[in-house]
Amino acid sequence: MGKKTKTARLLAAPGLRRVLSTALPWEGVLILNYHRVGDGSRSIHDRDLWSASSEAFDAQLAFLKTHSDVIGLDDIESALSRRGSRHVAITFDDGYLDNYELAYPLLRKHRLPAAFFIATGFIDEPCLPWWDEIAMLVRTTTVGQLDLPEWIPGPLLLRPGERAGVIRALLSAYKAAPGEEAARLLDSLREQARCGSNVAPVAKHWMDWKMIRDMAANGMTIGGHTVHHPVLSRRSLAQQRAEISGCAARLRAELGQTMDYFAYPVGSPDAFDERTRQCLQDAGVRLAFSYYGGIATRNSPRYDIPRVAVAARMENHLFRAMAALPQFFCRRSDGLAESVEPSL
Ligand SMILES: [Zn+2]
Repeated sequence: MGKKTKTARLLAAPGLRRVLSTALPWEGVLILNYHRVGDGSRSIHDRDLWSASSEAFDAQLAFLKTHSDVIGLDDIESALSRRGSRHVAITFDDGYLDNYELAYPLLRKHRLPAAFFIATGFIDEPCLPWWDEIAMLVRTTTVGQLDLPEWIPGPLLLRPGERAGVIRALLSAYKAAPGEEAARLLDSLREQARCGSNVAPVAKHWMDWKMIRDMAANGMTIGGHTVHHPVLSRRSLAQQRAEISGCAARLRAELGQTMDYFAYPVGSPDAFDERTRQCLQDAGVRLAFSYYGGIATRNSPRYDIPRVAVAARMENHLFRAMAALPQFFCRRSDGLAESVEPSL
């Protein structure tokens, strides 16, 4: 058990947590980030994408409703301009179908707002995203090892119990690969895994535009997350611009709204750069959200508003400690407990 989990257990007593929270005040907006809700424990896709079971998400919302002031993205700028304000915001990345089927009904039940950052290409042409395809290829292949020495030294052995580690190594290599290298890595993996006909259909993987419009009409905020979810900083200026303005154009066409908010794919400090910020400015984006921990404060740069990951392996104690004492549990760069965040 990690140090943070142990400390969070010590803080399980609500009275103690309340005393500490009053004695050690924090200021700003704690912006939580989710990807998927439900049970991913047997999925052939990237299991790290599940942020909470339905039951855990329900309990988290109930806790936030009672103990926090949850605001929507439209209220973040004014909240940050006021001294001493303390708020929580809820965000989801990518556009998975379970966001609509499982998370959205719970948000409505608790009457809480959330924001959904959509990679529009997945909605327009449903396909497996690179992270889910990498996980699926490694989990379903019948070959005993993979050799991708250009990106990862040594053979990748696929013995029982080792596939999760291989998936993680491949995802890191993919995220670090510049330009077309990432696509070449995935092509090599497809070839070696020889899954051809095993490729799972992607029906019911993503929301559709009707669902997204329904959420937008009922108090949820819709933001941009590019078209194809590349790591922007690894792409040329022209590609970055196409990913950002293309996403904005699809949101405008389908929802009749401007892309005021944007979340960087992967969201680590090196996943976006000065060129990205220029493209966002040209597209009229008001706030852009990163994903490596920290509390949003009035000093947060407009195009690097911090968010923290919620992970399915997180116990209730830790979630509550995070929400009450984020200055200790949601520090910038080390993200959260035990590096369980998927960083997508
Ligand atoms: Zn994402």
